[in-house]
Amino acid sequence: MSFLENSIAYLKGVGPQKAALLKNELDISTYQDLLHCFPFRHVDKSMFYTIEKIQSDTEYVQIKGKIVRYQEQGAGHQKRLVALFQDDKNTLELLWFKGVQWVVKNLPLQQEIVVYGKVSFFMGKPQIAHPEIEPWVAFQANRFLFKPIYAGTEKLKMRGITSKVIAKMVEHLFDIMPPDTIVENIPSSILESQKMMSRQEAFLQIHFPRNLQSLESAKHRLKFEEFFIAQLRLANIRSGRYKHTKGILFERLGSFFNTFYDTCLPFALTGAQKRVLKEIRKDTISGAQMNRLLQGDVGSGKTVVALMVALMALDNNCQACIMAPTEILATQHYQNIIQLTQKLNLKIALLTSSVKGKARKILLEQLANNEIHLLIGTHSLVEKNVVFACLGLAVIDEQHKFGVAQRSALWQKNIVPPHILVMTATPIPRTLAMTAYGDLECSVIDELPPGRQAIKTVHRYDRERPLLIDFMKKEIASGRQIYVVFPLIEESEKMDYENLFHGIEIYQTYFREPHYYLSVVHGQQTPALKETNMQRFIQGHTQIMLSTTVIEVGVNVPNASMMIIESAEKFGLSQLHQLRGRVGRGSEKSYCVLLSGQKLSHEAKQRLATMCNTNDGFIIAEKDLEIRGPGEIDGTKQSGLLNFKLASITQDKGLLDLAKNKTEEIIHSDPELRNQEHAALKNYLLIDTLKNTSWKKIS
Ligand code: ADP
Ligand code: MG
Repeated sequence: MSFLENSIAYLKGVGPQKAALLKNELDISTYQDLLHCFPFRHVDKSMFYTIEKIQSDTEYVQIKGKIVRYQEQGAGHQKRLVALFQDDKNTLELLWFKGVQWVVKNLPLQQEIVVYGKVSFFMGKPQIAHPEIEPWVAFQANRFLFKPIYAGTEKLKMRGITSKVIAKMVEHLFDIMPPDTIVENIPSSILESQKMMSRQEAFLQIHFPRNLQSLESAKHRLKFEEFFIAQLRLANIRSGRYKHTKGILFERLGSFFNTFYDTCLPFALTGAQKRVLKEIRKDTISGAQMNRLLQGDVGSGKTVVALMVALMALDNNCQACIMAPTEILATQHYQNIIQLTQKLNLKIALLTSSVKGKARKILLEQLANNEIHLLIGTHSLVEKNVVFACLGLAVIDEQHKFGVAQRSALWQKNIVPPHILVMTATPIPRTLAMTAYGDLECSVIDELPPGRQAIKTVHRYDRERPLLIDFMKKEIASGRQIYVVFPLIEESEKMDYENLFHGIEIYQTYFREPHYYLSVVHGQQTPALKETNMQRFIQGHTQIMLSTTVIEVGVNVPNASMMIIESAEKFGLSQLHQLRGRVGRGSEKSYCVLLSGQKLSHEAKQRLATMCNTNDGFIIAEKDLEIRGPGEIDGTKQSGLLNFKLASITQDKGLLDLAKNKTEEIIHSDPELRNQEHAALKNYLLIDTLKNTSWKKIS
């Protein structure tokens, strides 16, 4: 057992009772934990105030001087000791309401002392109650002039474990720590080129800094370490999978792929689509299992890429599946893909929870007998009794809607795990992709199909609705269709539905049959009714579709040129962008109107302004991360990868880049970490990884 693994109970002055308290309140159970309990701020004891400089808003001060007079005032409860304290020029009063005897005895008049405390004012004159006092002689012997302040709890304080006591514990820990206990884990070449302090020094300085600058250097070094170790772990998972997880070989590009490419594809692929297909192709002939994240903005054409990868699988006698988060989206993929592949004589099936009884039984049999080439569906696909004959590829569309468990369940669907292609609904900020999704290879479609016009986005208040209605009528008169989306926070909440139905009524009064026909789609309808209403809109029988966010993902009606988002302030940025992506798919000029109430929070204003200013999903993703912080972004909460203690992927982007670069250099030059220079690092990762095995196998 190493020194740092010792129980905190063994540290001088702690013992079993305080140890239990520290465990409960601050999760500190070993020396190591105490070392990692970083102060949240420091008090600068190197700076001295003078009484003259104290102003009405002054808070804590440290002053050197002497007590020139004691006086006891009041009686009974009111009794207090007042000391007149004098620096070079001026005086102020120090007050004690208890411990009076002790003070008078231990702090003789005229002795040079240092006083620290919070200033208050009485009749306009500054005073300090119960100051901390240290004789000047003792003060000069202080080792640390930046006093660490540790976060505590009420319980700890009640039992006498104050910030000061924790500081004493840490100080003592450093005193008894054998040399070389804190082992360096960053290669010396990096430390030298980046002028970073050693690990040992950084831990000392973050608790007890010499000065502000060394505190900053310590934080810098430790933040870098967090990113660096995380990046290495991720790289290690990627390369480990490469070595250990054998993949199916898609050796041939055969008649499915080629016929589709030559005769079915209704448009030319964009350069980005071609590049991504090449990247995927390379993975699938490498002999290892592919785990790739496909990022692309809304409407960038991810579906056709997924289909073409599926055709690669079929050409190699494998089956493929595509999993989508909603029934509507799965159905739409199904219809879309059937249409695109008419000439190919493919057997494609749709599996959702609505496929029941005999139909389901037949489908599952056919699937197991290799009579189905491509299965499209919802999370029904991961159910145990869905058995493939030979699953070569699993595509997961709109990945953030699925949990980690559902994704990893797809791994189990074949003896040799299928290649996995994960597609995102909206771009993921670069820094997040590097951390939360860093164990996946990443492809980006950074180009929209030609001819798309930028969507004009405006923000309007509810009271401007009549003007909006006029504009809608004009659009409909020229043959266009319109979406109106209402927020539903929880699909079950009664209040929200009342709002929704009220909103629908308003539109129904403006747009009456037989002049206008409306589709209404929401989560309380049966799948069949939803489908009918959707189809009426898709076929052009209705001009307006009023819905909840069920249309958020993937719905494709190129003739729709207008998206109206009700109570837009209630939506998050990526959701707004996703919704807006439903229009601007045809050749007509498209509009997005964000309706809101009069009162808007600062954040809501920022979101709406961002939407009006840009159509670029990558910029919006960055902004979203900036506004909300990493913890709140979809799909990252459960990953556990963002639990950096000091570093922040929004505020320390530069350091994250540096860590990523340095990691790549190392992995490139010494992938197995065999060099002597990397020995300590390897050792550290081994020990560290043993403690972090839970997420190793997740894609
Ligand atoms: P997303 O990436 O949001 O899933 P889709 O795959 O639904 O986007 O594609 C959006 C629309 O763009 C579809 O109508 C699709 O047919 C069309 N599309 C895809 N690729 C191209 C291309 N290279 N040229 C023209 N249109 C394309
Ligand atoms: Mg899509």
